[in-house]
Amino acid sequence: QSAEFASQRDIPAVTTDGQRIALLTNAGLEVDLESLETTGAEGIGLFRTEFQFMVAEELPRLEAQTTLYRRVLDAAGPRPVTFRTLDVGGDKVLPYLDAGREENPALGRRAIRLGLDRPGLLRLQLRALLAAAGGRELRVMFPLIASVEEFRLARDLVDIEVDWARRRGKPLPAILRVGAMIEAPSLLWHLDALLPLTDFVSVGTNDLFQYMFAADRTNPLVSDRYDPLSPPALRALHAIQKACSETGTPVSVCGEMAGRPLEAFALITLGFTRLSAPPSGIGPVRRMVLSCDLSAARRALPNVLASTAGTVRSEIESLARKLNV
Ligand code: PEP
Ligand code: MG
Repeated sequence: QSAEFASQRDIPAVTTDGQRIALLTNAGLEVDLESLETTGAEGIGLFRTEFQFMVAEELPRLEAQTTLYRRVLDAAGPRPVTFRTLDVGGDKVLPYLDAGREENPALGRRAIRLGLDRPGLLRLQLRALLAAAGGRELRVMFPLIASVEEFRLARDLVDIEVDWARRRGKPLPAILRVGAMIEAPSLLWHLDALLPLTDFVSVGTNDLFQYMFAADRTNPLVSDRYDPLSPPALRALHAIQKACSETGTPVSVCGEMAGRPLEAFALITLGFTRLSAPPSGIGPVRRMVLSCDLSAARRALPNVLASTAGTVRSEIESLARKLNV
């Protein structure tokens, strides 16, 4: 199988009826960069910057952050890289940060909340990203945005750092795009306000479903009780995809589900054309895309979405089988 995936590595992922699907990889450490070559990914759709912080014994300095980001951009060359700003707090504790203990870490001061409460931390990281991307394209996105106000505040910090660099005559990115992760269900009812503020969005399905189904993703007693291939989950994703296509906002899906062929089949049927997956998922998802007649799959979508069943996994499985996907 892996030989088959390797042989398809350089084949663009296009469905049998001609829809191009962009397959990107998730990464977080320098060792992951190799997977850009081994998987034939078209870029890094999610670079988890917190990994560098988690393996460090103290807060990585500006220099160390800049060096890593520069290496990532060098390795990617012309391929796009989307850096996700520090996503710690909650269960990802940095001993040197002293964020305080919380009763409900998943609902606590994690991700962008910590970044906004400690703007020095976020600004340092943005400074490193801007420096590393001098003369190139920089794509930055913020994790766990739950309100438009949070996105505005985070984006203001980017503007402050751009000004800071400009006043000092530092090289700036040739292109700067700022995006939000859609991981908090609250945003589903405020996409009309959020999307005009963003240059792109990326759906973090791991967290989005954790919060939608109120099921801790790290707790095996509950994490598997709810199916991403269920009407509520698929309807939520469909609403995001539709809203983005109406505003012309580029959207990708970067949760683990994007790396599982059946789930990815559902995602492209919903209309997503940009998936970012763990390296091991890219070959299997490419194979699925290459065999998929997307317009036939789309004809079945209304029925699947209208289902009153708790899960539609078996319906989607039989649809995939019927279409020889
Ligand atoms: C997600 O929540 O789906 C996501 C991609 O981010 P992480 O898994 O790093 O929380
Ligand atoms: Mg997340």
